[in-house]
Amino acid sequence: MKMLAMLWRNFWDGARTLRFPARPRVTERYRGLVQFNPELCTGCAVCRFRCTSRAIEYKAGKSEFYWSYDPGRCTFCGRCVEGCKAHALSQESACPPIYLNLGELKKSYTVARKAPAPKAVAAGAHGAALPAVSAGAGGAQ
Ligand code: SF4
Ligand code: SF4
Repeated sequence: MKMLAMLWRNFWDGARTLRFPARPRVTERYRGLVQFNPELCTGCAVCRFRCTSRAIEYKAGKSEFYWSYDPGRCTFCGRCVEGCKAHALSQESACPPIYLNLGELKKSYTVARKAPAPKAVAAGAHGAALPAVSAGAGGAQ
């Protein structure tokens, strides 16, 4: 009997899905599309490991790395953004995109690796070694 009631209700309630190109309504809890700033990215790949949806791909190279984001796979959970210490990722509350084929929204970047930051000067102006106490915090005690 419950089954019949459910069928009846579904029949009269009409369609719950939307016809293309209508879009779902954006709610205030929607975090938004992931935006990537290659200028800030260090290529650490943390976002790749935090993304269980496989929306982010990362391939390491010697002098460059490949990074891509596919909104069609993204659940907009924000875990990648939270894990990016370089602030290279953000989310904008744009409407979820419409796509017809898997992968057509994917954006790919090939980013040249940045030269490592110069290390702290370990010697004085005339090449004299600095006192051992300035060798850095967190060393052996
Ligand atoms: S976590 Fe941030 S810095 Fe690291 S690879 Fe991802 S976007 Fe780049
Ligand atoms: S928001 Fe979530 S699903 Fe989307 S790319 Fe980031 S970690 Fe992956």
